[in-house]
Amino acid sequence: RAKRSVGDKICYYEASMDEGRRERSALAIELRHAIMRNELELYYQPQFDVPAGRISGYEALLRWHHRERGTISPAEFIPIAEETGLIIPIGEWVLKTACAEVAGWGKPYKVAVNIASAQLTQADLPKIVHETLLATGLPASRLELEITEACIIEDRERALHVVRQLKALGVTIAMDDYGTGYSSLSTLQIFPFDKVKIDRSFVEGMTTDTASAAIVRATILLASDLRIAVLAEGVERQEQVDFLQAEGCTEIQGFFFGRPQPLPEIAEQVGRGESSVPPLTTPRAA
Ligand code: C2E
Ligand code: MG
Ligand code: MG
Ligand code: MG
Repeated sequence: RAKRSVGDKICYYEASMDEGRRERSALAIELRHAIMRNELELYYQPQFDVPAGRISGYEALLRWHHRERGTISPAEFIPIAEETGLIIPIGEWVLKTACAEVAGWGKPYKVAVNIASAQLTQADLPKIVHETLLATGLPASRLELEITEACIIEDRERALHVVRQLKALGVTIAMDDYGTGYSSLSTLQIFPFDKVKIDRSFVEGMTTDTASAAIVRATILLASDLRIAVLAEGVERQEQVDFLQAEGCTEIQGFFFGRPQPLPEIAEQVGRGESSVPPLTTPRAA
């Protein structure tokens, strides 16, 4: 009896693993066609400068509108894109689309684009970024690239080399999901980051658990001593805004200030449709 129940468990486990694998490979095949079929879309989530009382920029977040499955979360398909190498063409599509869309906004907001590990270790990323900026007319200072510690671990030397080349173009670099990876402190010392984004997991716990609070507080102090900007991710409640402000964290992103939304829904906020060409200066009398 006991033996059989163990056997049943194993059978069940193997069947569900098979199904999971089948589902993933089906998704991988469909993901290959997602760009061509026009199923990818960028949503934009505001990043808020609280003391200034204004939006400082937007993070571009990828969505996949699947014909049968509906909208699929990047948490589900980005790992598949990474395993299959599809992250390279998809990442390039994200970069080009974000720059082209944001260049057409009437208001000069920054845009933050997530860069996967495989993209960062690609030697021609700086060239692709440079060409995208030229092609879209977006000033380099309005583009921020978000990288995670996982991006850096694989090949530190190469990652540092690419990051320096990117910085030389005039784009800014943010460390995403800070605190969830390894070797955070030496990474901050070596890499020329402009910003750290405190991971949502610490923000979630910081008003109730002392360890999370300590990590958030220490990160804010560290960033300020290193003269880099600090942003808290995943802020959902007023008490979290109050805590962060009291600790000196000024930039905030989260559902409290706005969810990621498709461009048509934020068109008015970002001035899309307005001319982004500066008004002509009045010709001076001769
Ligand atoms: P991330 O870059 O850390 O992005 C923040 C995630 O937190 C987003 O999830 C966002 O919707 C979510 N979020 C923001 N505020 C809140 C909040 O107040 N509460 C909660 N519960 N969640 C909040 P999303 O859009 O599902 O993306 C998940 C992850 O997928 C991203 O994490 C990023 O690592 C990856 N990702 C998304 N778009 C891209 C992309 O274009 N390229 C790459 N390589 N990765 C991407
Ligand atoms: Mg991000
Ligand atoms: Mg993050
Ligand atoms: Mg993340």
